[in-house]
Amino acid sequence: MKIKDIIKRQGKSLSFEFFMPKGEEGRSLLVETIRRLEALSSTFISATQSAGDSGLKNTRRMVECIKGETSLEIMPHLACVGRSKSELRHTLEDYRGLGIENILALRGDLLQGTTKFPEGGFSYAKDLVKLAVSLKAFSIGVAVYPEGHMESPSLEVDMLHTKEKIDYGADFAITQMFFQNHFFYDFMERAQKAGIQIPIIPGIMPITDINRLERFSQLCGATVPGTLVEKMEKAKGSTDDARKIGMEFTIKQCDDLLKNGVQYLHFFTLNQGEAVIKILDSLALKPLL
Ligand code: FAD
Repeated sequence: MKIKDIIKRQGKSLSFEFFMPKGEEGRSLLVETIRRLEALSSTFISATQSAGDSGLKNTRRMVECIKGETSLEIMPHLACVGRSKSELRHTLEDYRGLGIENILALRGDLLQGTTKFPEGGFSYAKDLVKLAVSLKAFSIGVAVYPEGHMESPSLEVDMLHTKEKIDYGADFAITQMFFQNHFFYDFMERAQKAGIQIPIIPGIMPITDINRLERFSQLCGATVPGTLVEKMEKAKGSTDDARKIGMEFTIKQCDDLLKNGVQYLHFFTLNQGEAVIKILDSLALKPLL
């Protein structure tokens, strides 16, 4: 089923991002975790795509795995970088053939050491949105950035490009991770002013360890509150204590979003199923279950 229709029908959405783990053991663990999320009335699972041919193959393996073993909707991510238009069309047609009805259309990032997008492909996600629309088979999601995309010269320019991408035919958007909700609320205000009306799903990264938090936030330019870093640094001697501080922070963040009327949440699980299930067990998220 198309995510846009599920969201419309339910008026709320709870979803989870995973990547295809290595090996048979990893695969079994993934299926087991997703089965537990399935029991919690999850809306969809999204499958990341890393760079290169192996990245695309892994996403496809995950799509087949989730489709074959669970009843949840699956949404593969598809990044244009490094692929020709015909390869992208072929991939979309392949997904359509597998019965996939949802796609997250992304540009992706240049590989380290490269400075230019190759000729013959798409330079922006909006072009992939346009291609996906032309196949008339998908509900299309796009990425949006509460703190602005790292390459955008200003929040205003970022919003212009965001609006343009959505106008090409996106049905919903998922935000980059953020750790201070005012970034999301301000973004929603700017989006509304720009005339964006599709559902915007906040992307939440459960915090379980300081090194991972710092690595991911640096990669995507998300601001991490100094007080949180300080607390987690102090608790560094005990993995359990640091994890507890991080998880409590994430629960509070979700709680605040829900209290402010947010009806959709998407978790960047980093395949840490246990952490996400613990967060879902907290009182904060009950209204979404
Ligand atoms: P775009 O929308 O194309 O934007 C990229 C930049 O170009 C922005 O600065 C934008 O303002 C600018 N821009 C857009 N249009 C124009 C124009 N006409 N003229 C000038 N500038 C313009 N990456 C992966 O590789 N694999 C994944 O699985 C993956 N999953 C993600 C999931 C989510 C929820 C999010 C938020 C991001 C994900 N990413 C993933 C990262 C994403 O690929 C990067 O953030 C990338 O740098 C931008 O992708 P985009 O689709 O937002 O690009």
